[in-house]
Amino acid sequence: MARRKKIYEGKAKILYEGPEPGTIVQYFKDDATAFNAQKKDVIEGKGVLNNRLSEFFMTGLNNIGVPTHFIRRLNMREQLCRSCEIIPLEVIVRNFAAGSMSKRLGIEEGTPLPRPIVEYCYKDDALGDPLVTEEHIAAFGWASQQDMDDIVHLALRVNDFLSGVMMAVGIKLVDFKIEIGRVYEGDFQRLVVADEISPDSCRLWDIETGQHLDKDVFRRDLGSLTDAYTEVARRLGVLPKNTGPSKPTLIN
Ligand code: C5P
Repeated sequence: MARRKKIYEGKAKILYEGPEPGTIVQYFKDDATAFNAQKKDVIEGKGVLNNRLSEFFMTGLNNIGVPTHFIRRLNMREQLCRSCEIIPLEVIVRNFAAGSMSKRLGIEEGTPLPRPIVEYCYKDDALGDPLVTEEHIAAFGWASQQDMDDIVHLALRVNDFLSGVMMAVGIKLVDFKIEIGRVYEGDFQRLVVADEISPDSCRLWDIETGQHLDKDVFRRDLGSLTDAYTEVARRLGVLPKNTGPSKPTLIN
């Protein structure tokens, strides 16, 4: 089979041209990076787990009418998605203080927030993805006010869905990041949830023990990242219950 044409290689994924116009193939690598790629490693199996977990979340969102770029999973590491124009923003939703918000505002990690807080960061590795306001976004033309209203609406729906799914398996959704893409249909554009949703882009804490089941395990050297992600997958029924933690066996 002819090798697909590479469109873009990021820190955790590679995008290839899809088999039909308007599609791309998203390939999940095993590379883990943190602190703007100052910390790097290869975590065997991470790409396979994130491909399956992102499929699980994106399919769930599609099913409840939250549009995403996800079409279907192709194999262990690849999924077919609609191609879209990524808005250069990281959209973060927080339910509990943690990470950069705790540092910035001096709020203890784990403190419940009075309501979900939506933040935007400008996607620029050289600048370290700085926090920006709606004023910056509108003034620099990254998104219109209408786009931002739609983005907040989408982000809060994703938050409701993910919080519920996680709560049901004893996991607290502390915060997460999504990216939003524009899909053009004739003269109209539609905003869709793009990129990935996985433990790389969420903070997930065990409700009982507070154990971290997300990329903070890698960022903070808290143990095995594969074990943490496998635990999330297993609780969600994405992996069979009797699978050993270090060798994920995939169903389907
Ligand atoms: O570091 P910070 O506390 O701002 O991260 C908030 C959330 O966004 C976390 O769940 C983190 O994993 C996610 N995030 C991400 N990619 C980034 C920055 C943050 O997925 N570049």
